[in-house]
Amino acid sequence: MSNNLELIDMKYFFLFALFILCSASCDTAQTKKLVVDAPSISVPPITDTQKAKNVILLIGDGMGLTQISAGMYSQGNTTALEKFKVVGLHKQHASNKLVTDSAAAATAFACGVKTYNGAIGVDADTISKQTLLEIAELKNLSTGLVASSTIVHATPASFFAHNEYRKNYDAIASDIVDSGVDFFVGGGKNFFTNREDKRDLYTELRARDYKITDFIENDFDKVRIDPNKKFGYLSSNNDPLPVAQGRDYLIPASKAAMTYMEDQNNPNGFFLMIEGSQIDWGGHANQADYVTSEFHEFDKIIDAAIAFAIEDGNTLVVVTADHETGGLAIQPESKMDSLAYAFTSTYHTGTMIPVFAYGPYAENFGGIYDNTAIFFKIKSAFGWE
Ligand code: MG
Ligand code: ZN
Repeated sequence: MSNNLELIDMKYFFLFALFILCSASCDTAQTKKLVVDAPSISVPPITDTQKAKNVILLIGDGMGLTQISAGMYSQGNTTALEKFKVVGLHKQHASNKLVTDSAAAATAFACGVKTYNGAIGVDADTISKQTLLEIAELKNLSTGLVASSTIVHATPASFFAHNEYRKNYDAIASDIVDSGVDFFVGGGKNFFTNREDKRDLYTELRARDYKITDFIENDFDKVRIDPNKKFGYLSSNNDPLPVAQGRDYLIPASKAAMTYMEDQNNPNGFFLMIEGSQIDWGGHANQADYVTSEFHEFDKIIDAAIAFAIEDGNTLVVVTADHETGGLAIQPESKMDSLAYAFTSTYHTGTMIPVFAYGPYAENFGGIYDNTAIFFKIKSAFGWE
């Protein structure tokens, strides 16, 4: 008998809970009154003024706290990251490994799912997941990708491609044709014009109203960019050079991407991802000078992004890394202008990763959370459902 009563009580409780949930999600004046009596929720609703119109996501591949510290000390103890007032930490692990790779990590940022190392825009069951860039395209925002790796490399690829394995570069490149991305700059011309299937992606992209050019035709700073057309620039046949060996397009291409977005003046806003790809490669090579020179370049892009956001007032800038690379340590015999380093690995390590945010909604990036939360926080910043 008492069991039956409890069951009835439970039934009414669930009905009541369902009613409260329905009320909260409905938007009529009649139901709103009831919501006032419901228990208050812990996250305040976002008002229009708190939303971000634009988001610039800056990913320093392999840029852990030591890479940032080394880069900062080695350029006069200063970094553009000091301009950010909100700092958080994310947990980098993949679904199948404690230590992530760039593919699983970028997919976590782009799609909000924990997945396995090597996955590009697919979940742990290899099911394609919609990316931030794809959602932005559906919502008619302007979109852009800039990287100092090939554009088909794991980090940028995870924003426009869906593939069960990160090294299927020809297939990943063909995904860019239908992605709708408005502006992209990176290496990897071979995956566009020298493919096993003989498709010519330049021709296919031009048929979709892109201006496509590359390093053979022009240095990046000689290229005229028309904000009324989509734009793609391939900066090398395969991997771009390290900055210390003469790669010079990442800063001008990043600034050009911001100018392009400004000139497009899209009332729906924009989503732009820029990657400092080779901080990671310096870590894999256990070459501290490689790490710091790549950081110094990326730091100038961070500075340009925050300057853009300060002037614009509606742009959220988020800076983070996918993981740390090399297990880099700054040794006790170091001096500010002559750092002594040790590496403990030639691969990535499992340390938590800093996140820096500036602009509308930035305060929601404080605290400690999974790398997948970056996806949900950016969605919320835009005010997307
Ligand atoms: Mg990368
Ligand atoms: Zn790596």
